[in-house]
Amino acid sequence: MFDGYLTLGDVDVKGKRVLVRVDYNVPLDEFGNIVDDVRIRETIPTINCLLDKNAKVILASHLGRPKGERNPKYSLKPVAERLKRLLETEVKFAPDCVGEEVEKMVNSMKEGEIILLENLRFHKEEEENDPSFAKALASLGDIYVIDAFGTCHRKHASMYGIKDFINPVVMGFLLERELKYFEQALVNPERPVVAFIGGAKVSSKLGIIKHLLNKVDKIFIGGAMAFTFIKAMGYHTGSSLVEEDMFEEALYVLEEAKKRDVKFYLPVDFVCGKEISEKTPVIEVPWQEITDDWIGLDIGKASIQLIKEIIKDAQTIVWNGPMGVFEIDQFKTGTFSLAHEIANSPALSIAGGGDTDYAIHKAGVVDGISYISTGGGAFLKLLEGKTLPCLNAITNKTS
Ligand code: AMP
Repeated sequence: MFDGYLTLGDVDVKGKRVLVRVDYNVPLDEFGNIVDDVRIRETIPTINCLLDKNAKVILASHLGRPKGERNPKYSLKPVAERLKRLLETEVKFAPDCVGEEVEKMVNSMKEGEIILLENLRFHKEEEENDPSFAKALASLGDIYVIDAFGTCHRKHASMYGIKDFINPVVMGFLLERELKYFEQALVNPERPVVAFIGGAKVSSKLGIIKHLLNKVDKIFIGGAMAFTFIKAMGYHTGSSLVEEDMFEEALYVLEEAKKRDVKFYLPVDFVCGKEISEKTPVIEVPWQEITDDWIGLDIGKASIQLIKEIIKDAQTIVWNGPMGVFEIDQFKTGTFSLAHEIANSPALSIAGGGDTDYAIHKAGVVDGISYISTGGGAFLKLLEGKTLPCLNAITNKTS
C-alpha cells in the first residue's frame, strides 16, 4: 500500500543539505520545560542515519499554536537543547525558519552538522500552505525528508506545498515505521483482528467504527460511547453520558456489524459514580442495574474478564480511546487493565491517540505494545480509512 514511495534509504545524501520536517510539537510545562520528549527521541534514527552519511541536517518543525506570530512561549529553543543531549553533539539553533540570516547559516554548514530552525508556525503562511513560504523553505535544502507523522493530516506549506519546489521528497524512518505498522495491523493483518475503541463520544469516532467494520473480526466499544449504543437498543443507562442524536447511527452500526459477521461487544458491567469527581461514592453493577441517579464512569470487572476472552485468540489488536474516566483514580482500572491485557497478549498490537498513549505510559506497559503511534490526529485519520495529504507530496519511486 505504501511501497511506491521514496524513502531515506533510496537517496544519496552525502554532502547534501537535507531538510527534515519533524514533529517536535512536544508538551511543555509552565516554565517551558519539555514534559515528554518521545517525539524528539523517535526522530533520532533518521538524524543519525543522515549524520552517518555525512549530510548537512536542517530540522524544521512547529510547536503549539502561535497563530502565525512570533511568540517566545512557543520557541523551539528548548528542543534544540534536548536534542543536543540526546545526540551528544552540537545542534545550532536558527532564529527563524526562512530569511537571509537562516540562509547564511545553512550555506556555511559543514557535513555532519545540524541546525534546528525556529517554529514554522511563527509565519501564518505555513498553515495557509502559501507557495512563496514553501519556496523559501525549500531553498534551504537539496533533499526533503518528511518524518512528521503527527502532522501528516495537515495540508500545510511544509507538509504539502513544498513538493512543488524541492525534489526528491522522501519518507523518514519514523513515517515509514508508522505506516508499516498500520499496514501490518489493518491492511494485511494476521487474523483475528480485534479493535478496542473507547472515549466519550460516538459522534467523534463514528468514522473510525464504520471503517473498522470492514477490517476487523471483533470490535469492543468502551467508554461513554457504550451508553449511546445501549440506550439506542432501548435500555436504561441511568445518568450516563449519551448522544441521543447518534441513536440511529448506533443502530446502523450494529446492523452492519451483523451483516459483516463482525463480533460486536459492549461492556457488561460498569463502575458508577454519583458525579464525575474523586469524592463520589461508587458502585459496580451490570448495566441493566444502573438506576437514574448513577453515572457509568468505567467498565467493571466482568467486562475486563470479557476482554480477556475476546483477545485470547487475537493475532492483531488495535486500540484507541479510554474505557472510562481514567483521569480519576476510582475510574481508571478498566483502561489500565485493558492496557495490561493487550501488553500481555502475544498479538501484534498498535495503539494511538493522546489519552491512549498516556494510559499506556501510566500503566507502565510501553514495552508490551508492538507500536504506539506518535500522531494523534494522523493516526485517527488512518483508522477512518482516510489518506494522508502529505503522502501526495512524497516522490514516487518510479518518477
Ligand atoms: P475521546 O477524546 O473521545 O477519546 O474521549 C476521551 C475522554 O472520554 C476522556 O477524557 C475520558 O474521561 C472520557 N470518558 C471515558 N469514559 C467516560 C464515561 N463513561 N463518562 C464520561 N466520560 C468518559
